Amino acid sequence: MTVHTDYSLKELNTFGFDVRAKFFAAPETVEALEKLLSDNRYAHLPQLVLGGGSNILFCSDFNGLVIQPRITGIEKIEETAETVHLRVGAGVVWDDFVAYAVQHHWGGVENLSFIPGHVGASPVQNIGAYGMEVKHTIRQVECILKATGERKVFSAEECAFSYRDSIFKQAWRDRLIVTHVIFRLAKHPVLRTYYGYVEEELRKYPDVTLQTLRKAIIAIRRKKLPDPQILGNAGSFFKNPVVPKKLADELALKDPKMVIYPIDVNYVKLPAARLIEQAGWKGKCIGAVGVHDRQSLVIVHYGGGTGRDALALSTMIRQSVYEKFGIQLETEVNIVQ
Ligand SMILES: Cc1cc2nc3c(=O)[nH]c(=O)nc-3n(C[C@H](O)[C@H](O)[C@H](O)COP(=O)(O)OP(=O)(O)OC[C@H]3O[C@@H](n4cnc5c(N)ncnc54)[C@H](O)[C@@H]3O)c2cc1C
Repeated sequence: MTVHTDYSLKELNTFGFDVRAKFFAAPETVEALEKLLSDNRYAHLPQLVLGGGSNILFCSDFNGLVIQPRITGIEKIEETAETVHLRVGAGVVWDDFVAYAVQHHWGGVENLSFIPGHVGASPVQNIGAYGMEVKHTIRQVECILKATGERKVFSAEECAFSYRDSIFKQAWRDRLIVTHVIFRLAKHPVLRTYYGYVEEELRKYPDVTLQTLRKAIIAIRRKKLPDPQILGNAGSFFKNPVVPKKLADELALKDPKMVIYPIDVNYVKLPAARLIEQAGWKGKCIGAVGVHDRQSLVIVHYGGGTGRDALALSTMIRQSVYEKFGIQLETEVNIVQ
């Protein structure tokens, strides 16, 4: 396997920031990855694992080894009357896996259609959309520990999944590489069509199936979100904040358009996009970066800017949302300083 030096990451991050890695390698097998990790030339360097680069903000060049696992393959490892269990390589493009599942009439990931990135990052982020989170279909996550090269399998419980979060972003952060994810898909799935604009979009199709649901979700996403091929971005920059119900009720009185998602008796989730919009940021442009004009949760890169520009803009947004609403926005995107 080739280890490249001074390697451009411009095409490998969906913001399109022009940064370089001191070393870059893309192992295609677990064995190649193990060999790379045991190579003394790179062991002492900072290491970063990269998937499709669709949830990452590079603020400068990476002075170490960037590893992009390109382990592919979708393998059926178990089947029952109700479920099918698939072992999928970390380097498989997430939406190719969703298309494969839908094509075989297996349910559980269809609402996550068209999310950019690779399968390896899906448990790290606990990706979610349209009322579905990947945690509900993950059975196990296979990893290699960076420090020892030891293989470790995490059960779904051990992954400690929560909203856009997992143990891989907490206690195990930067300490392992996901090599495979084992999914448990349903042969007779119950389709989730009630969320957001899905029901409305589905009315354009003659029937509601896994296939039409996938098509409807792709159509909605194409309308609502900027295509990173055209306009650099990493999806939602911030998480939707969880706040005390009392505070949300006060805000809703002042802004009837504020949608409130219940969490429990005391807490609710608020749409960060609405808070950012109300703070006056929607469509605003600061130099080479800005806030998207249709989806204010998305910071966009018009070209020629740097990750630091995007980070500075995100700090301004967070400050003004805090000043206006007393709410601290948390970043969803992974920032590499
Ligand atoms: C237009 C657009 C729309 C989006 N919509 C959604 C959405 O609806 N829902 C949603 O949840 N997300 C969404 N995202 C965010 C993004 O697509 C997901 O977070 C995705 O899972 C990131 O995958 P990636 O392979 O690109 O990860 P990267 O951006 O490459 O990496 C993300 C993090 O995971 C780590 N990582 C990556 N691969 C591995 C691995 N194999 N082992 C260990 N760590 C790893 C990285 O080190 C980094 O910390 C969107 C992004 C864009 C650009």
